Amino acid sequence: MKRIRIFDTTLRDGEQTPGVNLNIQEKVDIAKQLARLGVDVIEPGFPLTSPGDFEAVQRIAREVEGPYICGFTRAIIKDIDETWKAVKDAQKKCFHIFISSSDIQIKHQLGKSEKDVLEIVKKTIYHAKQYTDEIEYSPMDASRTRIEYLYEVIEAAIDNGATVINIPDTVGYSTPVEFGELIKNIRSNVRNIDKAIISVHCHNDLGMAAANSIVAAMNGAQQIECTINGIGERAGNAALEEVVMHLEARKSYLGIETGIDISQIYKTSKLVSKCMGLPIPANKPIVGKNVFSHESGIHQDGVLKERSTYEVIDPKIVGRDDESNILLGKHSGRHALKIEAQKMGYDLNEDQLIKLFNDFKELTDRKKNVSTADLESLITEQVVKAVTETYTLEKIRVISGNMDTPCAKVVIKDIDGNIIEAEECGNGPVDAVFKAVSSVIKEAGDMILNQYSVSAVTEEIESLGEVSVTLKDGEKLYTGKGTHTDIITSSAIAYIDAINKAINDKNS
Ligand code: MN
Repeated sequence: MKRIRIFDTTLRDGEQTPGVNLNIQEKVDIAKQLARLGVDVIEPGFPLTSPGDFEAVQRIAREVEGPYICGFTRAIIKDIDETWKAVKDAQKKCFHIFISSSDIQIKHQLGKSEKDVLEIVKKTIYHAKQYTDEIEYSPMDASRTRIEYLYEVIEAAIDNGATVINIPDTVGYSTPVEFGELIKNIRSNVRNIDKAIISVHCHNDLGMAAANSIVAAMNGAQQIECTINGIGERAGNAALEEVVMHLEARKSYLGIETGIDISQIYKTSKLVSKCMGLPIPANKPIVGKNVFSHESGIHQDGVLKERSTYEVIDPKIVGRDDESNILLGKHSGRHALKIEAQKMGYDLNEDQLIKLFNDFKELTDRKKNVSTADLESLITEQVVKAVTETYTLEKIRVISGNMDTPCAKVVIKDIDGNIIEAEECGNGPVDAVFKAVSSVIKEAGDMILNQYSVSAVTEEIESLGEVSVTLKDGEKLYTGKGTHTDIITSSAIAYIDAINKAINDKNS
């Protein structure tokens, strides 16, 4: 069995998903979950894009143990020096240096020649080597690069100390057999290739990201770069859950294994979806709501007799336990709740636990059967909440329907304990709530609603409604979440959470 490394770029390429902006705490929480999932490398951001990105990478380097923490940097000497400062405190750290190698990008984007780029590659890798031995180099747009030049640039990178060579299909243009050939050709035509690991980074513009990654592994790639839920630039990256579960399900045919703890897949997927405010499509392989549901009578009959008749993997092994209800009820105490959260992999602090307990008690008053999914939703809400809650929703009353103009009254408590109230009318109940909230929270004045979505946690009529709200404040985006059996209340909580995040960011 050949062991392949999984390199996770959810927090770098994945965070480049349009409309997504995580705060530092959310990034740290996701990185900790990625470590539990057992990825080999975490690329926690692009440290030099902003002070916030730098701080997030630095905190992850300091707090997350297990995987390599990777510093992503342009091939520029001073960028390498600065990036090192962000990752140097990690237990295990590495660089990921990139520069374009395709004719098209060298000429039009960089305004340089192939020879210039070759010199930059040699010089920057040699320079980075003084900090660490672990250096990944990416010839960006490799799949559209003149092949002889690609061999030359890889050989030079390895001669100067690169230990991982990443072959990105930057624009998701490759076709599987062709991409497999490319990896095979690199293996047989680059003189010193056995001194480095070949990595691949595939994009999904034409829907082939996971397929290209698998074919590359069959042809000798030893590392796959991917993201949770396949998020990322444009159509996204290869989805970690698809790649890993394909290798797992077809292990005897492919002979390739990973170090991933697959029981953590579903939870990681939900955490990322919630933090980023990106719902998981129902038909998304492995983690979508419908992918283990059977509609056809013949299929249903088969699955009831023997699950494997129509399911290629058992949903339980990725941590999906759709039917299971808990265990916890009205009379459960805080300790039981804490144990249950720990079983799910969440280590809550005292403050989060108190809030979780209150939410849980309130929920048991409104909903008889609290399911694992409900509890997990309440927990992740605590995990992703703004660090400091400048404002909290105390009470809300809404009139809606088609007989009257929808109106909302909100009662909000500020951080000093002052109670503020407002009443507004709007086009619909959510609009009325948002107007009422923004009429009394002065900081909300300049923020624009960028995204709003509601989803149900489970399928019953009394299900919790999860709302995600993204606000735009100048150039920045803030995503807030709210969970309640009443979706209008969820909306108010999510809206206030997004405002709190913006205020946190300004004060930090
Ligand atoms: Mn990419």
